[in-house]
Amino acid sequence: MLRRIIAENGHDHRWSYVVAIVCSLLVSGATAFSAWVMAPMVNEIFYERRGDAVVWICAGFMGAFLVRGFAGYGQAVALATIGNNLVARYQKRTFDHLMRLGVNFFNDTRSGRLAAQLDENIGGIRDLLSLTLISITRDAVTLAGLVGLMVYQDPVLSLSSLLIGPPLIWAVVYITRRVRKINRESVLINSRLSGSVQEATQGIAIVKAFTMEDELARRIGVMADTAEQRSNKIARVSERLSPISDMLAGLAVTGVIAYSGYRALVLGQPPGAVFSFITALILAYDPARRLARMQVAMERALVNARMIYELLDLEPKQNDAPDAVEAKITSGEVRFNNVTFGYSADMPVLRDLSFTAAAGKVTAIVGASGAGKSTLVALLQRFYDVDKGSIEVDGQDISKLTKRSLRGSIAYVSQAPYLFEGTIRDNIRYGRLSATDAEIEQAAKQAAADDFIRQQPQGYDTPVGENGATLSGGQRQRVSIARAIVRQAPILLLDEATSALDNEAEARVQEALTHVMEGRTTIVIAHRLSTVVNADRIIVLEEGRLVEEGTHATLMADPHSIYARFHRIQGKKGLGLVDDAKPIQTPLPRTRAKKAVRRSA
Ligand code: ADP
Repeated sequence: MLRRIIAENGHDHRWSYVVAIVCSLLVSGATAFSAWVMAPMVNEIFYERRGDAVVWICAGFMGAFLVRGFAGYGQAVALATIGNNLVARYQKRTFDHLMRLGVNFFNDTRSGRLAAQLDENIGGIRDLLSLTLISITRDAVTLAGLVGLMVYQDPVLSLSSLLIGPPLIWAVVYITRRVRKINRESVLINSRLSGSVQEATQGIAIVKAFTMEDELARRIGVMADTAEQRSNKIARVSERLSPISDMLAGLAVTGVIAYSGYRALVLGQPPGAVFSFITALILAYDPARRLARMQVAMERALVNARMIYELLDLEPKQNDAPDAVEAKITSGEVRFNNVTFGYSADMPVLRDLSFTAAAGKVTAIVGASGAGKSTLVALLQRFYDVDKGSIEVDGQDISKLTKRSLRGSIAYVSQAPYLFEGTIRDNIRYGRLSATDAEIEQAAKQAAADDFIRQQPQGYDTPVGENGATLSGGQRQRVSIARAIVRQAPILLLDEATSALDNEAEARVQEALTHVMEGRTTIVIAHRLSTVVNADRIIVLEEGRLVEEGTHATLMADPHSIYARFHRIQGKKGLGLVDDAKPIQTPLPRTRAKKAVRRSA
């Protein structure tokens, strides 16, 4: 894992690494020097009482600490630069990757949780690299320098004090293993927690309307408690290292003092080398302990890194075929040929569906909720691949076209108009990035949106609130219709809003839609009576099958047709034409509820 991270990012930071490493070498050199100086200090100043030694020893000490200070600064800044760049890089990479993943991934993943997980895990990668760098360059080099000095001063003593190494390593390995599992749990629970907070704030209107505050607070509370317990457990396990390493270090130091005391008192050896040795031993303890801790911390960071790579290694479904070609759209005729499709293999949602949406005409799809209308629209955009049959646009099988060119020829107006961070102008321009300001304003006029946009405080440059909260439902719909007009695509997919607008807003949206449908092949999931009545062709779906097809007049001519039946039931009301019609209602409470949550999220 570490190798992969370094291979993917290492070469771009060469100079920062060089600075960090040089600074680390300086830090560890200065540290070893300050331990070494103990020997001449004790021997020359205190044992042999030489005045001139005081001057150069003091100068040496001062110099060593100055070097340590500045080199430490350089090292910290260099490492921070690398770390911050790494965070930015993985943020970009993961976002790019997310945007390439298929719709199915997002069906299965909660957005808030995903964002929180990315956040935590990317931080983990940064820690991983800076931890390794700090420990390897500074601590490992310092430790090596100090151990070298110890061996030089007193080989026998060093050998005996290095005996604490093996038990320390064993402890580290044991603790690392324990931490690995708990840490994964901890990341998951933390991201669930922040994801839930995000969802609760996004759906605050529902939360308040249903007085869900206490229940949500209770659930969040439970998650927070679990997260707390996990963190405590991680602390308890990883901090076990402290008592173990302190005990071992204590053993080593007492052993050294006892043995060297015996040598000084009984054998009368000069104390300098021993002082230097003990100083090196005590100084070595810190980097050694940090190295051991680093192992544990690194294990935690590795869990984060692994989770990021699990995401980056997900292959997007519906990749373009290797020989995919650009779509050549002339008239924009859409044809479904015996299409069968299910989200899971055993549950077909569309069954053997064939129909043609004539070029430049309006085809209305009618059916009870759950009949497969949205699925049909998703398939045409190739959010999923069909199981059997094919979908053609102007005679070209869409599975053989590049997704980009296919979707480039489609404008989509969804049921819930989604506006993104940015200004109103930006939001319309997402339809086609090359659109000029004049084109944007022209499209807004056609979408009956120009008037209210100009009344906004900064006109077209007014930022939209989160999810367009500063605009009314009808206004948001008109902005999203303007976005579809700007796209200048030959095919229009329209998922009519079921939500009731007031009469005036309704009329304005209708007017906007009439404009956008002009001259385009339009497939509309119809909920409004007027849309259905005026459509060139109506397709009635029941449980994923095409059961009736015709115009309003031909379908009404047969009083026993399904269409005529629910037309009678819902009749003049128009809105929600078929959704509540009893005879063809598909009872799917569980999946519907799931979907409702997703839509509102
Ligand atoms: P409609 O738009 O006519 O209401 P849909 O096309 O949304 O119907 O749904 C058709 C069926 O497919 C329903 O039973 C629904 O529960 C199911 N379904 C829709 N989306 C998904 C999904 N992402 N994963 C699994 N099942 C889905």
